[in-house]
Amino acid sequence: MRNQQATQLLFELSKPGRRAARYPMADVPDRPLTDLIPEAQLATALPPLPEVTEPDVIRHFVNLSTLNMSVDTHFYPLGSCTMKYNPKRHERLASLPGLVDLHPYQTPAASQGMLQFLYEMQQMLAEIAGLPGVSMQPAAGAQGELTALLVAAQYFRDRGEHRTKVIFPNSAHGTNPASAAIAGFECVQLNQSEGGYVSLPELQSQLNDQTAVFMITNPSTLGLFERRIQTIAKMVHDVGGLVYIDGANMNAILGITRPGDFGGDMMHYNVHKTFTGPHGAGGPGSGPIAVRDFLADYLPGPIVTKEQQPDGTVVYGLKTPSKTIGRMRTFFGNVGILLRGYCYLKTLGAEGVKAVSDNAVLNANYLLQKLKHVLPVPQGERCMHEFVASAQKLKTEKGISAMDIAKRLLDYGFHAPTVYFPLVVPEALMMEPTETESKETLDAFAAAIEQIITEDPERLHQAPFTGPASRPDDLKAGRNPVLKWVAKA
Ligand SMILES: *Cc1c(COP(=O)(O)O)cnc(C)c1O
Repeated sequence: MRNQQATQLLFELSKPGRRAARYPMADVPDRPLTDLIPEAQLATALPPLPEVTEPDVIRHFVNLSTLNMSVDTHFYPLGSCTMKYNPKRHERLASLPGLVDLHPYQTPAASQGMLQFLYEMQQMLAEIAGLPGVSMQPAAGAQGELTALLVAAQYFRDRGEHRTKVIFPNSAHGTNPASAAIAGFECVQLNQSEGGYVSLPELQSQLNDQTAVFMITNPSTLGLFERRIQTIAKMVHDVGGLVYIDGANMNAILGITRPGDFGGDMMHYNVHKTFTGPHGAGGPGSGPIAVRDFLADYLPGPIVTKEQQPDGTVVYGLKTPSKTIGRMRTFFGNVGILLRGYCYLKTLGAEGVKAVSDNAVLNANYLLQKLKHVLPVPQGERCMHEFVASAQKLKTEKGISAMDIAKRLLDYGFHAPTVYFPLVVPEALMMEPTETESKETLDAFAAAIEQIITEDPERLHQAPFTGPASRPDDLKAGRNPVLKWVAKA
């Protein structure tokens, strides 16, 4: 039986007078509260907080935590999200007192260690991107997109060019058009595709002197590397536009090729994806951007500088780029996530970083080969770090949908892959195993899917059976969220 402490709210466990700890009464006379706070502002009753014992609280939250799936407890092949293992050593390093106790307003002279770390991270990100200007301020990939698009807008304004359009393929992540719209651009979607690749004639037909930026994820969300990316970049550059590389899929190409080398002018990283920052619960992210030299003057400040004094000592300082668009966030964004990414890169070194991508691509291809006979992959025989399978045939023949498979996988102890994205693949199941999974895990996952599709379709529609809820009404939850607990009468 499922533990009551997990399924009941703390408010429901509450009994008047229960306490975790009791303190002795104060032995000094109380000063009247009205000495400190005007009477009108004083509360007339205590807030209705739950009254529970310490074990109640501990069991409640520990049991709740076991209802969740996480990278630490389950295989988590969520496509496009790079749910790789988060090494625990990073947590220890990122919480060293010298780092976490530093106040952002301490002077550069008193923060040399932190500035050295930020400078080295900046340089590593520039090197991996092949783009020299880096801002670490953005708090997530989506904010990185917005920051880079604002940089592009300011660049064109400076040149007296009126460019209003941002183009992207229909496999783009939803944040691409959203960022473009927030940055004030018009969105132009390419709807044709040549086997999952950009249609060059369609792109050409959309390019003109209105084109500001072409945004492309490479490798794409279909797990395909756009091999004609240099031709594409040249087409965009020929009409005076800029190329933005959505770097969410960098896990496939680290140290193998670089956005700056294949024609990108700007890109973002997702440190919480590619470089092991823990994510998945809306926690803090980090989306640094890297840009070409002619865009670096527009970046948000400050940027960390390194100078050698005449006596040989190295001094780190702060500089605001001359034509900056202003700040996108306070200080250096989510430094804690950057620190974890830094530990990761330093631990692996250049060779290790490249091995990450080699193994991520190998694992994804292994899984693709194991599954393609039951879940066809419309975009081909080979993939990069992820692939998009389709349950279309299963749905027509047996009535088993991508959602049924995803939900039933939870009963088998696997987190579901990404489903129904990208929109261009019907009944999509997008799988990204990452490099940190063993052959045994991938085999067990493939075996679970093979088993699931032999089950009774009617029963599958009810899955999962082991979770606290089976199939909540997502639409109702989104439209009429219940955000406040109200006591039952
Ligand atoms: C995750 C993702 C984003 C957005 O990144 P966040 O860090 O979640 O804001 C953008 N594009 C692609 C392809 C992604 O997978």
